[in-house]
Amino acid sequence: MWDVAVVGAGPAGATAALAALRARPGSRVLLLDRSGFPRDKVCGDGVAPHALDVLEALGVVGLVDDWAPVHRLQLDRGEAGVERLLRRPARVVPRKVFDARLVDAAVASGAELRRHRVRSMASGQNGIRLDDTIEARVVVAADGAHSVLRRAVGPGPAGRRALAFRAYAPTRETGRGRQVIRFGQQRQPSYAWAFDRGDGWSNVGYGEVLGRGDPPSRDAMTAALDALLPQVSEGSREWQAHHLPLSAARWWQPDGRVLLAGDALSLVNPLTGEGIYYAVLSGALAGRAAVGRTASDDPGRAYRSAVQRELGRHLRHTNVVARLARHRPVVEAAVAAARRRQAVFDDLVELGLGRGLLTPRVLAGLLGR
Ligand SMILES: Cc1cc2nc3c(=O)[nH]c(=O)nc-3n(C[C@H](O)[C@H](O)[C@H](O)COP(=O)(O)OP(=O)(O)OC[C@H]3O[C@@H](n4cnc5c(N)ncnc54)[C@H](O)[C@@H]3O)c2cc1C
Repeated sequence: MWDVAVVGAGPAGATAALAALRARPGSRVLLLDRSGFPRDKVCGDGVAPHALDVLEALGVVGLVDDWAPVHRLQLDRGEAGVERLLRRPARVVPRKVFDARLVDAAVASGAELRRHRVRSMASGQNGIRLDDTIEARVVVAADGAHSVLRRAVGPGPAGRRALAFRAYAPTRETGRGRQVIRFGQQRQPSYAWAFDRGDGWSNVGYGEVLGRGDPPSRDAMTAALDALLPQVSEGSREWQAHHLPLSAARWWQPDGRVLLAGDALSLVNPLTGEGIYYAVLSGALAGRAAVGRTASDDPGRAYRSAVQRELGRHLRHTNVVARLARHRPVVEAAVAAARRRQAVFDDLVELGLGRGLLTPRVLAGLLGR
């Protein structure tokens, strides 16, 4: 009998394991993943400083200090554009590196890592049974955008999804030291990006929110990237696409012993596609709730309250802004307002990467247009 079984060793799962062991040292924590590490994960690789704050609070300090800080963010929309210094730099770290380091940290703190693809889940005598072979008092479901465990606990509300692909390409002179985002003109909402890793390579890609029609083909997405950011994909390799489950104002965590975290809880920011920070934060809360005093009563309920406390308002606000952003003039107004005032730019960054809210000055900037 494990105290906690964590399914999925991405940022959400590895952080959940770390947090459980930090909250209750000596707990028996099993970390399962279908892949061996290091493994790739399709992503823009942009790591917000907020994610590193959560990890530092769990004792994981300087995880990616050897990757160059990226100080500048450029946002473009048609002819309008803004480029400014970020209040705190981000880092662009291949997930093959980032995730493997996080898993190492979880193992170093006492988690047992096992390669295993979970296929089924059922109630056991004293806890939850996975594949009839593993039993744990509490399970953290951190198995990503296509979570098997989320489907097993119930349907939950069907949220919106985006589809995006990424590739790695040599960094162009104009892209050095910055993250560039250019919003699409055709499909809404959509954007292309080029994020400098600082080692001569950039993560480049394109994504769009899926509607009722057919998803875009690979050719359509590469054409969109080339149209929005000409030449950034020259010499590119490692093309791959993946879904992003976008967060909504209403989210779903059932009572009981299965805690959904990260993409399995659909926590990707609908404005930016950022999900690592929310994965790490929800993982930390899930790990704590799994071994907390209330865990014997109802860890699901305790965890739901914790997520609500930390992210509830932010999720409501980003949902409102995401709805507004479906209208092109709103995105243009936001870019123009950020160009006029650093403070508006900072607020928009917090909304897109952290726990920011729709502040009066952002609202005034939008209405001013
Ligand atoms: C193209 C693209 C670009 C993105 N860009 C960014 C960005 O720049 N910055 C950002 O912050 N976010 C970005 N995101 C979002 C980010 O990648 C995710 O939000 C983040 O990876 C979520 O972490 P997670 O731990 O919840 O899930 P994951 O990172 O997906 O980890 C899930 C783990 O579960 C394992 N697993 C799955 N099923 C099972 C199973 N049945 N049994 C055992 N193990 C299983 C998988 O192998 C995987 O290791 C992007 C996403 C995409 C698709």
